[in-house]
Amino acid sequence: MSLLSVEHLSKFYGGKPGLTARLTGAPGLVVRAVNDVSLTVERGEILGLIGESGCGKSTLGRAILRLSEPTAGRVVFDGQDITALSPPALKAMRRRMQIIFQDPYASLNPRRTVAEIVGLPLRLHGIARSSDEIRHMVGQICERVGLKANQLDRYPHQFSGGQRQRIGIARALVSTPEFIVCDEPVSALDVSIQAQIITLLQDLKQEMGLTYLFISHDISVIGYLADRVAVMYLGEIVEMGQVEDILARPRHPYTQSLMSAVPELEPTGRRNRVRLKGDLPSPLAPPPGCKFHTRCPLAIDICRKVVPVSETLAPGHTAACHRLHENISLLEEPAA
Ligand code: SF4
Repeated sequence: MSLLSVEHLSKFYGGKPGLTARLTGAPGLVVRAVNDVSLTVERGEILGLIGESGCGKSTLGRAILRLSEPTAGRVVFDGQDITALSPPALKAMRRRMQIIFQDPYASLNPRRTVAEIVGLPLRLHGIARSSDEIRHMVGQICERVGLKANQLDRYPHQFSGGQRQRIGIARALVSTPEFIVCDEPVSALDVSIQAQIITLLQDLKQEMGLTYLFISHDISVIGYLADRVAVMYLGEIVEMGQVEDILARPRHPYTQSLMSAVPELEPTGRRNRVRLKGDLPSPLAPPPGCKFHTRCPLAIDICRKVVPVSETLAPGHTAACHRLHENISLLEEPAA
C-alpha cells in the first residue's frame, strides 16, 4: 500500500456570486488551481513535483496536507482518508505529515525565539510536557540540522537565509513525522547554500526513514534528488514516471521543453533548445482541449478541442498528449 494516495484532487478558488455576478447574472469566476490530480507516493521515496511558477504545485502540496481545504477528491495517508477527518483527528495526523516552506523567513514568527518556534509542535501535539524535556528535544534536532546550542534563544532575523531554512527543517522534523512536503525549500537560497540544504534533506531522509513530496521549478534539482517525477502544467499532471525514464525519454512536449533548458541532464547529449511561446495561461480562463496547446510547438487541430487522456506508456510511466504515438521529440534536431 502506498504511504500517500491522492485521488482526483481539485482545488478551486472563487466562484461565489459577487456583486458583478448578481448584476450581470453571470456566475463568479473560478480559478482552477489544481484540477483532478491523482498520484501516489510510496513509503521511503522522493516524488518530485515539477512545473513553472503559478502552475499549482504549492497549492497541491497544501491541499494534500489540508492546510487549504480541497474542493474535491480524496487524500489517503497510510490507509486513512484524511479529507474526511474531523479537526481533532486531523490535528493528530498532522504530527505525521509536515511541510518545509520556500521562504523560511516568512514562515517563522519573528517574535519567537528558535527554541519557541521549534518547540511549538511538541507542545501542540503533547509530545513533550515539561519545559526541560521540550528544551532537550529542541536542542537535539537543532544540533542535527546544523544549529548551535547557543543559538536557541535568538530570533529569526539574527540568522542567514540558509540557517533560517535549517530552523524550518528542525520545526518540521521535531515531531518525528513520516511524510514531508518540501515546498521549493532551496529556491530562495544562494546556490552555494542550496547544495548544503539538499544534502541535509537527503541525510535526514535516510536517518529518519522519511518520505518526501519535493516541489521545485528546477528540473536539475528534481533530477538529482527524486526517485519519480510528476510534471504539472496549469493545475494538471501531464507526465509522471521514474526519474531515469523521464530524463532519458521525456514523452510530453512540455516535459521536453523543461528538459531542454538543462542540457547537462540529457544522458543522450541532445541539445535542441525548446523555446515556448508566451506565458503560462491564467487558471481563470484555461484554454480548451489540451491546456498546453497555446504554447505547444506540436499542437494540431484536435489539441484545441479535445482534452488528451493520460495513457500508460510503460510500467509507471504515464503521459497525456494526442501525439504520443508519433514519437516526435522536440529535443532532437529535425533531419536536414
Ligand atoms: Fe501539444 Fe497537442 Fe500534445 Fe497538447 S495534446 S501537448 S497541444 S501535441
